[in-house]
This record gives sequence, structure tokens and C-alpha cells, in this order.
Amino acid sequence: GRQFFVGGNFKMNGTIKSIKDIVENLNKADLDPNTEVVIAPPALYLLLVREHLPKGIEVAAQNVFDRPNGAFTGEISVEQLKDSGITWTILGHSERRVILQEDDQFVASKTKAAIDGGLGVILCCGESLEQREAGKTIEVVTRQLKAVADKVKDWSKIVIAYEPIWAIGTGKVATTEQAQEVHAAIRAWLKAEVSSEAAEKTRILYGGSVTEKNCGDLAKQPDIDGFLVGGASLKPAFVDIINARR
Ligand code: 13P
Repeated sequence: GRQFFVGGNFKMNGTIKSIKDIVENLNKADLDPNTEVVIAPPALYLLLVREHLPKGIEVAAQNVFDRPNGAFTGEISVEQLKDSGITWTILGHSERRVILQEDDQFVASKTKAAIDGGLGVILCCGESLEQREAGKTIEVVTRQLKAVADKVKDWSKIVIAYEPIWAIGTGKVATTEQAQEVHAAIRAWLKAEVSSEAAEKTRILYGGSVTEKNCGDLAKQPDIDGFLVGGASLKPAFVDIINARR
């Protein structure tokens, strides 16, 4: 079986105080030991979180650059993350694709740099409402993933997060059927385009308005292996999402 995985993406939220409170809450909580937990605070707070988290919870950056070092103002390298005890990065989040105009090739190049450098990658994909209504969901998601498969052969440290854009921060969670359908299609695509092993072993997370109330039914779907949580990861109820399979 695939180990259940729950990521917390804080996005551009929090202060030293509020982030310390979140970490303290996780420290005190009774977390399902079968769930792999990774939290992604803003870059400025990565070290603070790393220092205060209990063993067993890993820390992710929300982004990383694809060059080793040099004149790249505002960017952070894979090596710098590793030097700081940060073992994961999120890449390809729709907010970066849409607002920061990152294209499939750039996301793929950064994924390659992260994997080659030994980081785990939470690789996000997902369609807009317009694309869904045009029947293009699977086409969009597999196009986003193919750009990575063209550059990266080893998927053992990639976790895929399917995050339909229309479900992010909207309170409009995908139905269990909608999510399961896309997750199954992603798994079939992995089998056809990467390997049977990747299809069997790769965790596919759902993200988009996940709460402690809707996580239980989603977590029962055969191809949903966990969640990437935004807003609810800032709240105490994040613990209930970590424990969704209990
Ligand atoms: P919300 O859980 O706030 O909808 O955000 C989901 C997300 O984008 C996680 O990366």
C-alpha cells in the first residue's frame, strides 16, 4: 500500500507568532503515525519551523529555483534548502502557474533540479473551470505531467497533487467521484507513460477546499492517497485531516 500523505501549504500567510502556534499545536497533537506529514510555510519561516517541529514531520519550500547558485535575485537553490534541513518542495502550484506565469517547461526544469538534488517534490497539476467545462481536464493534467516525465525518469520522490483550480480557496470541493476519476486517470497515465512501478507507488493527493468535514469520504477513494491542504492547514482542524484515515 501507499503511505497516506498530508501536506500543509501555508501559502503567503502567517507571522512568527501564528506559525509558532501552529507548530506547537502539531507538537502536542495525537497524529496518526501512518500518515506522512509535510508542512510548507513561507520561505522566511522555513528554518523557524524546522527548528521547532517534532521528528517525523518534514518541511517543504513552496518553490525552488533550477540553477545551482549565482545572480538570481530573490531565488533559493535546492542546495540551500538541503543545507537548512528542508527535504521537500512544492512545485507547479496553480497560483505560480497563473499569477507568476510559470509554464510547464519551467515547472519541469525545476522538478528535475529538485529531484537530481535529492529533494522530494509535491508536483501540482489541475484544470481551470473553463477547461473542465470544455471537457479538457485529463488532457490538461496529463500535459502538465508529461512535461515533467520528459525530463525526469525517477518518480520515486515525486508526490502528485491534483488541485482543480476552481476548488482552490473557493469552498467548492470536488466531489469524491470527480476527484477519484481524475486520480485514476493520472494513475493510468503513469502506467502508460512512466512505469507500472510509478503507477503503483506514486501518491496522488487531492487539493482544493479540503476540510476536516469533507476529508473522510475523499480519503476512502482507492486512488486518493492524501491531501494538499491550504486554508485548513492554518487551523487546529488540520490535525483531523492528518488523521482522516484513522
Ligand atoms: P485550499 O485548501 O485553501 O483550497 O488550498 C488548496 C491548495 O491550493 C493547496 O496547495
